[in-house]
Amino acid sequence: MTCRELIEFLDEYEAGTQPPEVRAEFERHLRVCPQCRNYFKTYRDTLVLTRAARGAQGDNVPDDVPEALIEAVLAAQRAGGAGRAGE
Ligand SMILES: [Zn+2]
Repeated sequence: MTCRELIEFLDEYEAGTQPPEVRAEFERHLRVCPQCRNYFKTYRDTLVLTRAARGAQGDNVPDDVPEALIEAVLAAQRAGGAGRAGE
């Protein structure tokens, strides 16, 4: 597997839809290629952040998350983030 192929496979790898032999190839490449390891790590971090941000906006928030925590996350996003004014 080449670096380019690995990057194209990232989504499928995360979704778990690849056959085991492809996943094995993927993981072997990751072990020998620091560049792709870095890329993979960044990709996963981005996914985690994206999911967290989505949750904080009210889709997928579990019932037991305290309202105050949600408010705090939203406030932090407004303070640090998109610079959207006027809400
Ligand atoms: Zn690579």
